[in-house]
Amino acid sequence: RGTVLTYAFGSLALLMLIGGLGYWLLRELAQHRAQQARIDRLHRVQAVLSGVNALIVRATQRQEVFEESCNIAVQQGKFGVAWIDAYDEATGEVWRVATAGPDADYVVPSEGPVRMGAGGHWGVIAQAIAERRTVHSNDFASMPGPHSNRRDRAIERGYRSAIALPLFSNDHVVAVLALLAREREFFDDEELKLLDELAGDVSFALDHIAAQDHINYLALYDVLTGLPNRTLFVERLGPVLQQAHEQGMLCGVAKIDIERFRAINDTLGWAGGDALLRQVAPRLQEVLGEHALLARVERDRFVFVIGGVTEAAQLAVEAREIVHKVFDTSFHLGGHEDLRIAARTGIAVFPDDGEDPATLLRNAETALARSKDTTERFLFYAREMNARVAETLALENRLRSALGADEFELHYQPKFNAGTNDMTGVEGLLRWHDPGVGMVSPEHFIPILEETGMIREVGQWALQQAIRDHRRWRDAGLDAPRIAINVSAAQLHEAAFTTDVKAAIAAAGGGAHGLDIEITESTLMTRVETNADKLAALRDLGIRIAIDDFGTGYSSLQYIAKLPLDTLKIDRSFVIGMIDNATDHTIVSSVISLAHELDLMVVAEGVETPEQADGLRALECDEMQGYLFSPPVPAAKVEEWLRKGFPQR
Ligand code: C2E
Ligand code: CA
Ligand code: CA
Repeated sequence: RGTVLTYAFGSLALLMLIGGLGYWLLRELAQHRAQQARIDRLHRVQAVLSGVNALIVRATQRQEVFEESCNIAVQQGKFGVAWIDAYDEATGEVWRVATAGPDADYVVPSEGPVRMGAGGHWGVIAQAIAERRTVHSNDFASMPGPHSNRRDRAIERGYRSAIALPLFSNDHVVAVLALLAREREFFDDEELKLLDELAGDVSFALDHIAAQDHINYLALYDVLTGLPNRTLFVERLGPVLQQAHEQGMLCGVAKIDIERFRAINDTLGWAGGDALLRQVAPRLQEVLGEHALLARVERDRFVFVIGGVTEAAQLAVEAREIVHKVFDTSFHLGGHEDLRIAARTGIAVFPDDGEDPATLLRNAETALARSKDTTERFLFYAREMNARVAETLALENRLRSALGADEFELHYQPKFNAGTNDMTGVEGLLRWHDPGVGMVSPEHFIPILEETGMIREVGQWALQQAIRDHRRWRDAGLDAPRIAINVSAAQLHEAAFTTDVKAAIAAAGGGAHGLDIEITESTLMTRVETNADKLAALRDLGIRIAIDDFGTGYSSLQYIAKLPLDTLKIDRSFVIGMIDNATDHTIVSSVISLAHELDLMVVAEGVETPEQADGLRALECDEMQGYLFSPPVPAAKVEEWLRKGFPQR
C-alpha cells in the first residue's frame, strides 16, 4: 500500500509538477506572444518612422509629404487606414488631403472643407487640433459621445484603435495625421512615443518646405513689390520672344526709371521711397494687364514687355500711353501732399535690337541712359527708330489740330457699271492738307488716327461731310450719286457707332442720305457676332454695306454668308495680277462667282488698264473703279460731272 500511496502521491506530485510546468509554459507562451506582438507593433511604427525620415530628405512639396506619409503608414506600418486632414486655423475648416489603405476611401471619403465642431469628424482629430497634442483611443467603439459617420464606418470595417497626430508648421497646427488599427489596445506608451516623434519629423519636413518655398520666392520675386525680379523676368521673356518670332511680331522691352527718385528718398526717407515703389508696381500691373510681363529690376527701375504689333512706332505709342496712365495721376505718400512723379523710358525692340532677353535688357538700359542725356523721355535703342518715331509723333501732334483747323477734305472716286459704263456711285476718300508740308497720303495718317483713336472723330466728320455733300447736290436738283465711306475697326467696334451714324444723318436734315459704307474684310471678321447686329441696324437705315479689300483677310465663307452685306470689293492686288498671273486670275474669277452665289454685287478696285477692264467684264464683274476711269477728285469736280456728264473716253 505504501508503494501505492507513494505512487499516488508521486503521481499527484508529478501531475502538479506537470500542471505547474504546463501553467508556467502556457503563461510564458502567452507572455511571449504578447511580447512578440508588442515588438511587431513597435517594428511597424519604427518602420514608419524611418520611412518618413527618408521621405523628409527628398520631399519638396507639402502634398508629397502628406501622401507619402500615409503610404508609409499603410505599407510599412501595416495600418489599415491612414489619412491626413488639413486644417485652416483662420476658418476652422478641416478637409481630407491625403489617404492610403484599402478602406480609406470608404471610411474617410473625400468631401469639401468641414468646419470643426460641425459634426462628422472624429473626436480624436478635433481634440488633437484643439489641444495641440497627440490623441488616441484604444477602443473607439466604446468612446463616449455621438459617433460621426467616419467612426461608424470604421467600426463597420473592424477598426478599433485610432490615433490623431497634429502636424505643425511654424508652430501652427496645419494638419492632422490619423491612423486606424484593427487591434484593440494598439497604442501603448512606447508606440505613442515613437509616433510623437514621427509627427515631429513630419512637422519638421513641413517647416523645411515652407522655408524652401520662401527661399524660392526670394530667388524669383522682389519682396518689396511682389513683382518678379530680373531672374524671373529673363526666364519668362524667352518664351514670349519665341512666340513673337513665330508670329512675325515685334516685341518691345521697355525699361522705366523714376525721375528724381534720389531726391524723394532724401526728403521722405527710404520708407517713403519704398512706399512710392509699392504704389507704382500695382499701377503698372493694372495698366499693363494682369498677365503682362513686368518686373522690378533695380531700386527704382521697372521693365515691362509690350508686343502684338508689327510697327515699331506702335510700340512707342503704346509705351507712352502706359507710362502716362501710370504717372499722370499723383501719388499719395503718408501725410504728404500729392506727389507728382515723372519717368523716363528706354525701349529695345525684338528682333532688331536683340534676339535674346539679356541683350534686349542691356539695350533697353542703354536707351534709358541715353534718354537721361536728352530731353526725350522715350528713347529707342536704335537711333533711326527714334527719328522715325519722332516723325510719327510730330505728325500725330499736327493731326490733333487738323480737324479743328479744317485741314481735312473728302475726295471722291467714281465707280462704274461694267456693262453700261454709267457712274453708279462714288467712294469718299479722306485727304489732309498738312500746312507747310502739303497733301499727306491717307496711308500715312490713317494708321496714326487709328492708333490714337482720333479716327473716331475724323471718321465721324467724313460721314457727315459725305451726307452734307450728297444733300447739297440733291438740293441743287442734281442726280446725286450714292457715297461710300470707309469705316475703320475702331469706329465699327465702338458701342455708339450706329447711334453716331443716325445722328450724322439726322444732322443733315434726314431724308435720302445716299450713304453706304465700306469695311475691310479683316475688320469684319473680328467680333463677327456683334458686327452682324450693327450691320443689320445700319442696313435698316438704308445704308448698303461693302466688304472692302476682299481676298487679303481670312474670311470664313460661313461668316460672309451670315453677315448682312450687299457688295464685295475685290482687292486691287488681285486686279493687278489677274492678267499675268494665273492664280490671281483664278482668284478673281472664283471670287466673282462666289459673290454672285451669295447675291452680292462685285466691284473691282484699282483698275488701271483696258486689259484688266476687259478681263473683268469677261468674268461678269458688276462694277469697276480705278485710275483707268478716274482718280479720286474734289467734290466740286463731281458736281461738274453731275451737271455736264462724265466725259466720254
Ligand atoms: P481703300 O479703301 O482700299 O481705297 C482705295 C485706295 O486705292 C485709295 O487710296 C485710292 O485712291 C486708291 N486707288 C484707286 N484707284 C486706284 C488705281 O487705279 N491705282 C492705284 N494705284 N490706286 C488706286 P487712298 O485714297 O490713298 O486711300 C488709302 C486707304 O486709306 C483706303 O484704302 C482706305 O483704307 C483708307 N481711307 C481713305 N479714306 C478713309 C476714310 O475716310 N476713313 C477710313 N477709315 N479710311 C480711309
Ligand atoms: Ca475702300
Ligand atoms: Ca483696297
